[in-house]
Amino acid sequence: MLKIDNLHASVEDNAILKGLSLQVPAGEVHAIMGPNGAGKSTLGNTIAGRPDYEVLQGSVTWNGLDLVELDPAARAAAGVFLSFQYPVEIPGVPGLTFVRTAMNAQRRQRGEDEISAPAFLKQVKEAAKNLKMDFDMLKRPLNVGFSGGEKKRMEILQMAMLEPSLLILDETDSGLDIDALRIVSEGVNALRRADRSMLVITHYQRLLDYIKPDKVHVLVAGRIVASGGPELAHELEAEGYDKYLPNAA
Ligand code: ADP
Ligand code: MG
Ligand code: MG
Repeated sequence: MLKIDNLHASVEDNAILKGLSLQVPAGEVHAIMGPNGAGKSTLGNTIAGRPDYEVLQGSVTWNGLDLVELDPAARAAAGVFLSFQYPVEIPGVPGLTFVRTAMNAQRRQRGEDEISAPAFLKQVKEAAKNLKMDFDMLKRPLNVGFSGGEKKRMEILQMAMLEPSLLILDETDSGLDIDALRIVSEGVNALRRADRSMLVITHYQRLLDYIKPDKVHVLVAGRIVASGGPELAHELEAEGYDKYLPNAA
């Protein structure tokens, strides 16, 4: 399980997470909801170990492994995958090359052999088909000129290929029309497994109609201020975050 205890973290010397505690048992999907600027992306980036995100206090463990001590590559090898709110474009690197390089880096880190070209092709074709992606898109430079929906599909494809055990989706719903939202959500739901945990970060309830969370947490000003079942997401959608804001009466 993912265990976060009293996490304080900063970005470029700005304290953003201020005593955040959270537990996501294996097999569960938890949603993190909160207003803009609450620290949702900072939470995802801190768990994944992106440079510039500094843990000041507290702990983050995944199946008992202290993630804070590990560099980002070691965290990825331990099964951590962060799907970005804004996937990066990488000119000159075809999607296929990117995914295969990521898989092999992870395998090397785990002391495993590289995947063979035929095995990789078979697997990636299957994954693309499941996500209704045109295979030729994977031959293009990663995400360059892709629509929002295509970028998100590309992220889910990477997840399907890398088989992470801790999946963090940061506003996967932003910029998606209903059809893309459904396909991406089906792709995510297909990745649910008894030994996997998922953190689904979202500003809106809509995504949670498709990816049904076991629990919903409200993140405001760097802390979890409320937790509940899926009904909490509906309440937030109806009433907004006002009553959770620091200055609320
Ligand atoms: P959310 O994802 O909930 O909208 P973020 O985690 O992106 O919020 O941001 C939380 C706060 O941290 C915001 O006030 C934002 O301006 C600040 N922040 C995020 N990234 C940086 C950065 N690189 N440098 C300085 N401040 C940042
Ligand atoms: Mg935001
Ligand atoms: Mg964000």
